[in-house]
Amino acid sequence: MSVQNDGGAGGRGSIVRRMAWPESASRPVVTPIQPSVVYASPDPDTLDAQYEGRVAGYTYAREGHPNAAVLAAKIDAMEGAEAGLVLGSGMAAVSAVLMGLMRAGDHVLGGDQLYGRSLRLMREDLPRLGIATSLADPTDAAAFAAAIRPATRLILLEVVSNPTLRVADIAAIADLAQARGILLAIDNTFTTPRGFLPFAHGADIVIHSVTKILAGHSDATLGYVAARDPAHRKAIYDFAVTTGMTPSPFDCWLAERGLYSFELRYDRAEANAAALAEHLVGLPGVQRVLYPTRPDHPDHNRAMGLLGERGGHMVSFEIAGGRAAANRLTRAAAQIPFAPTLGDIGTTLSHPASSSHRGLSEAGRAALGITEGFFRVSVGVEEIGLLRDEFEAAIMASQQEGAQ
Ligand SMILES: *Cc1c(COP(=O)(O)O)cnc(C)c1O
Repeated sequence: MSVQNDGGAGGRGSIVRRMAWPESASRPVVTPIQPSVVYASPDPDTLDAQYEGRVAGYTYAREGHPNAAVLAAKIDAMEGAEAGLVLGSGMAAVSAVLMGLMRAGDHVLGGDQLYGRSLRLMREDLPRLGIATSLADPTDAAAFAAAIRPATRLILLEVVSNPTLRVADIAAIADLAQARGILLAIDNTFTTPRGFLPFAHGADIVIHSVTKILAGHSDATLGYVAARDPAHRKAIYDFAVTTGMTPSPFDCWLAERGLYSFELRYDRAEANAAALAEHLVGLPGVQRVLYPTRPDHPDHNRAMGLLGERGGHMVSFEIAGGRAAANRLTRAAAQIPFAPTLGDIGTTLSHPASSSHRGLSEAGRAALGITEGFFRVSVGVEEIGLLRDEFEAAIMASQQEGAQ
């Protein structure tokens, strides 16, 4: 296993020159990490052939690199997609779709409970560029139909909303979009390809924040986008490469490693979520529990139709006692990170009134049903008995007025 180049300072080579990779008759089992920003081609003819797609070959990492390609291919397989693209964050994916495909004068219609930064992009940034936007309630197909304008070119939806876990009327809205020739983009982050396949339900574009449960370990920030139409793929790719939405090779490698256990993690987290929801319902001080497949969920029938038994890994609940009780709950549940994210291998707790929805007025939050006692749980893979005990103890503590 000798290394050919004389890269040592003592020989005739220069220490600046890279060494050849050691020869090996065996191959690594694990995907290598390739951090190279540039790739050397043998000659200009070959470089031409690469740019023209006649031979495969990387040139510059902003335009693509092997770790992104491997990760994209794995998510493609789960989504039934072709030639998906991995980007530097979930928001890069949302932005690349909206800004890569829309032009001034177009109108974009979004669900009114989209991810916070997606809402901001719709409300602040697109209008500044001359792209009109509006929002409507995606659980109400008639309201959505009424919000369509002659200039509407794209509809952006999430299947299950954050944090109230409302289920969008995807079937009716997909029909509407198809009848009017409007593109349907679905952010499938919450539902994941294990719970829902947007391309099988009329979507033209699928978006993910890979940061969440796909990667699953809160150590990589990445996004993914796939489009059915090759012309859309090219427009999204060109916009992303031009604006520098490049993913880090190391993050791609971490996310790929996370994906190997994704199905196991998701199934376990989902079973835990359903069981935790059931347990929370009976606890003193708990006023409301939201889980899509529970019979008391406001969109129960639609959830069963769209998701089957797959209620997902998120549970929301509301306790009595307002902010003071909420403070007592997070302090008592000190083992469960109180953190504004979701999809980690372990359970995390979020309080929308002080985080994701703090920008709304109290009345705005009340209209969504988000009070000071409202919590959203991203359920992890812990042993369910432990979760039941921890939540029960924290909720009991939250209801002890005067306690710290
Ligand atoms: C987190 C999230 C995003 C944004 O993803 P980042 O990777 O944080 O940029 C977009 N949509 C949904 C539904 C999310 O949960």
